[in-house]
Amino acid sequence: MVVPALGLQMRKIVGLATMVLASCQAMAPVEAQQGGVVAPPLPSSMDFADPTQNLAITTVAPGLRYVLGRNVSSNTIVLDTQAGAVIIDTSRPPASRAHFDLLQKAGVTKAAYVILTHGHGDHTGGVALWKGAGAKVVAQESLGEFLDYQRMLAGFFGRRNAAQFQFAGSGGAAAPAQPGGQAAAAQLNAPSIVPDITFRDTLDLDVGGVKLQLISTPGETPDHLTVWSPSLKAAFVGDNFYESFPNMYTLRGTRPRWPMDYINSLNKVLALEPEIVIPSHGPAIVGRENVRAQFTRMRDAIGYVHDAVLKGMNEGKDVHTLMREIKLPPALDVGEGYGKISWSVRGIYENYVGWFDGDPASMFPEGRSSVSDSLVRLAGGPVAVAGEAMKLVGEGKLVEALHMTSIGLEGVPGDKDVLRARVAAFEALVKASTNRNELGWLNQGLAEAKKGLQQ
Ligand SMILES: [Zn+2]
Repeated sequence: MVVPALGLQMRKIVGLATMVLASCQAMAPVEAQQGGVVAPPLPSSMDFADPTQNLAITTVAPGLRYVLGRNVSSNTIVLDTQAGAVIIDTSRPPASRAHFDLLQKAGVTKAAYVILTHGHGDHTGGVALWKGAGAKVVAQESLGEFLDYQRMLAGFFGRRNAAQFQFAGSGGAAAPAQPGGQAAAAQLNAPSIVPDITFRDTLDLDVGGVKLQLISTPGETPDHLTVWSPSLKAAFVGDNFYESFPNMYTLRGTRPRWPMDYINSLNKVLALEPEIVIPSHGPAIVGRENVRAQFTRMRDAIGYVHDAVLKGMNEGKDVHTLMREIKLPPALDVGEGYGKISWSVRGIYENYVGWFDGDPASMFPEGRSSVSDSLVRLAGGPVAVAGEAMKLVGEGKLVEALHMTSIGLEGVPGDKDVLRARVAAFEALVKASTNRNELGWLNQGLAEAKKGLQQ
């Protein structure tokens, strides 16, 4: 997840409300130092910066250190043993190399194992480097199948990742902040890894006298695992916990992520009563009561949303109504800097029953765009549509303005008045957004609308 590179200001966000997250103190003040623009309320692991810069090794306990990943690159976690280091997750290119070099300089030159919490490219980018340092690769047995799924759709995910994470080459407004371009985007979805050791439910490792237990904990992905160190009372949970409501549906596209999987897996971690948790994005969580409180709240937040969706579905409510209606009660508010409740509501709804919304018109391949030209004509033409969209922008009805311009452009593709209104809507939405993934897509939309104006 994601800090802006020096000299880049792709987001000019001013005066936003603070997220209710303890970890927000870790926000990068980079933008604030550059021209007086207030930094956005995104946790440091999720901001839009060069992920190879401002890296540091944090020691959490004797023999336990990690490099905090920036900009949707995972942390690299190191457990020292007499038989060499155990590495948990390896970040993504180019951060994976920067983490590796930093740790090598700190004396982590021999690795016994590299354990992958799951097969996402932001965790697996440094596997070859650590293998070179002697590590055997350990993963849950579903890793191979999960990598195949991503590889099978590499073209699709390449485009979607580039837009959502604003890689150079995506054409997005924040793209210059992300080094690596399309090649980095491609590596996010098709890492080629063959583990040396796999397991189904649990695996016990003894590494130079340090005992570790690996536990299957499906959640964000089917191959997700948790590493438990009984001696340190430390759990390493991958992406099943981070500083936000989880991405139960991620906009770049994903197979179903079931709420019940998350809940069962968070319960497995809670049962261990950890005193330290290091997630694979964001800082370590320390203190048994602190861990218990944060994990309980996350579990209950997920359960609350799941139950609210089912209740609404059974009452006959449509998905958009539920996306608007379902909010977390204050006691369960875990923030929405990365995942959003509304996307999860729709993800849960459609994972249970699929896409048909009950409107007979939806059965046919002709979608809304088949009548957009008629609508624009009836409205009095694209100038009238653009005027109405600008009025909506003025009233702060930004999403409505976006819809208006979508219909306008479907009716009259490339119309400059409608595109100008669309740029205005996107610029206001970017200023107001406090969600990392939403910002990625808004910046992408803004760049595409601006490009349309130049054509
Ligand atoms: Zn991740």
